[in-house]
Amino acid sequence: MHSLVSFVYLFPLLLILSTTNIINAISNDVFPELVFAQSLEPSKLASQGNINNDDYNDVKIAILTFDDGVKGQIDYAKPILDKYGFPATFSVICNNVSQSGYMNWNETRQLQDDGYDIASHTMNHDNLEEMSFEQAKYEISESKKCLLNNGIKDVKIFTYPKNGGSEDPKIIDEVSNHYEIARTGTEPLTFLDCSYSSANSNNNDQLTSLQNKVSCTFEREQDKYTIEGWSHDAERKDFGYKDEELLKRFIDVVNSQSEYNENGVIKAIPVIIYHDINQTSGYYETSVDLFEKEMKYLKENGFKIMRLLDLI
Ligand SMILES: [Zn+2]
Repeated sequence: MHSLVSFVYLFPLLLILSTTNIINAISNDVFPELVFAQSLEPSKLASQGNINNDDYNDVKIAILTFDDGVKGQIDYAKPILDKYGFPATFSVICNNVSQSGYMNWNETRQLQDDGYDIASHTMNHDNLEEMSFEQAKYEISESKKCLLNNGIKDVKIFTYPKNGGSEDPKIIDEVSNHYEIARTGTEPLTFLDCSYSSANSNNNDQLTSLQNKVSCTFEREQDKYTIEGWSHDAERKDFGYKDEELLKRFIDVVNSQSEYNENGVIKAIPVIIYHDINQTSGYYETSVDLFEKEMKYLKENGFKIMRLLDLI
């Protein structure tokens, strides 16, 4: 088992990261995103069974998430996701369901029935840092009950509205009392901590995890609750990108993992956040045409699309 594992220590990795703005993602003293990484050697894995070296030398991963439960997601994004067979997570604001411009419960359940994951995005989409802790606890816990009461079967994922609270240990702890994983934003890549799996899984688990997802898990419980997403639509608003400029930026972001994922070892993943998929809503949005082009790019370039839940 240990012959499969080699270690890449924190210090040289930090040296690499410090040359990029991604250092921001790991500079948090309380919950650094990455402690150190373990690598699995594809050549040895290939000798164990069905894994072909070539499958992992250039593996690229992406995770797709859709926030706020807006109507354009089921009307325009879902048919494209269905066409390409890509999994995704849809985050729902409980009190906004069935409001104008938002999906209703039937549509939300339809997403679930068709294999997509439904996440809690609180009751009211307020910033959890800008309310009392009691109120934050209500937003976190009540929204899970609300989803369950409306026929959503597994509510394991939480997403922080406006990224608020994901650096507050008390709020993270409360989220961990109710959910198994949580995503915040916004960085182009989320970095995995690969130390835990080396000590806690057997050889078969390692092979299965490489075939189906990534080779790493989280060393510390709280790391599962601060997964970084990249807000595609916020960048469009912030930088005024036209579709062709944002497509170029998208391609840069999804390929930036190659700097870290060498020899088939996945240490960094883009977790993309979309909001409305519509041409005209005036909201945080992506045009249908651009969304189609981005999904087509992922398909044609061999990206493997994971679920958020594959990270745990
Ligand atoms: Zn939101």
